[in-house]
Amino acid sequence: MKAALFHKESGDLIISNKNIPNLSDKDVLVKVHYCSFCGHDLAVIQGMLKRGVGNEVILGHELSGIVDSVGPQVSTCSPGDRVVSLLTNSCGICDRCINDQSHRCRVGEGIGHTCDGGFAEYVVVSENSVFKIHDDLTLKDACMLVCPIGVIEEAFSRYKGQFNTVVVSGATGGLGIHGIQKASSLFDRVIALTTDASADKFLSQNGATDVVVYDASDTFKFKEIIMALTEDEGVDLFIDPVGSGLFNESVACVSQYGCLMLLGDIQGIPLDIHLGDMLFKDLEIICSTGSNRESVKLAERMILNGDMKPVIFDVVALENILDVCTKMQESSVIGRILIDMTLG
Ligand SMILES: [Zn+2]
Ligand SMILES: [Zn+2]
Repeated sequence: MKAALFHKESGDLIISNKNIPNLSDKDVLVKVHYCSFCGHDLAVIQGMLKRGVGNEVILGHELSGIVDSVGPQVSTCSPGDRVVSLLTNSCGICDRCINDQSHRCRVGEGIGHTCDGGFAEYVVVSENSVFKIHDDLTLKDACMLVCPIGVIEEAFSRYKGQFNTVVVSGATGGLGIHGIQKASSLFDRVIALTTDASADKFLSQNGATDVVVYDASDTFKFKEIIMALTEDEGVDLFIDPVGSGLFNESVACVSQYGCLMLLGDIQGIPLDIHLGDMLFKDLEIICSTGSNRESVKLAERMILNGDMKPVIFDVVALENILDVCTKMQESSVIGRILIDMTLG
């Protein structure tokens, strides 16, 4: 089968021919239809994320497809089922798996990170990480169900703050644009923060009430604008998929008793943090990089109800995956680019 194989040592991503993987007793073989390209994939390729990455591994964790065959001990799905995979190949029996935290399974392996993922014609996943999708959901929309949309739902399931104002940084990215859609269903005012001036109209169409365009090279960036927009109060919630590059300034935009929802770290820069800035505003921080089954169900309901529309920038064949990397690096992608594994 065709697959995009990442070689950790050289950092190369090479389209290769591999054998269709073998099934163990409790595994499921999925014929992949779509796999969207996540910022996480880019971080691995750039060598920024190294921990737990397999030496030779097929990347891609945002996959949807159809069950091809199942191991003899699999009882919850069968060939022909339309599915997505959760983010981790999990055991199903440890305390975390039993409590719907299989993405933090004690012995789990990240799909498309530690073990092979969805940039391939077939992928083997554990039965416990299979999620059967609703008949009305397309496989195209479904590949974004767990990440990024489920990750946002998981973070919001822990949010206990006010619902007046929210800022979403990295607004055109996969987490950002769907974060705006989610926030617009809950908050009175949704401020989208972006470096892309041309995205203004699209961000408004997705639910932003205000769009703040800032220059990344400007030392002052956006804090003054956000404080001016909120009459120096700051915002109840700051949704932050960007991470270290903007961290101190993001914290500065949050109000007393407010919350920073940290969903990613694009640059991985070591930080000079002043704890007093957080302590004296009673800041709450919610970190989320995973999605449990309940959050995926919520994400599915949001899409089926029309409250969330997966933003697909482009759909391309696997052969174009390096171009996708370049576009992601240039931040010229709004939402996600999907790799269609049935093409070519
Ligand atoms: Zn992802
Ligand atoms: Zn487990």
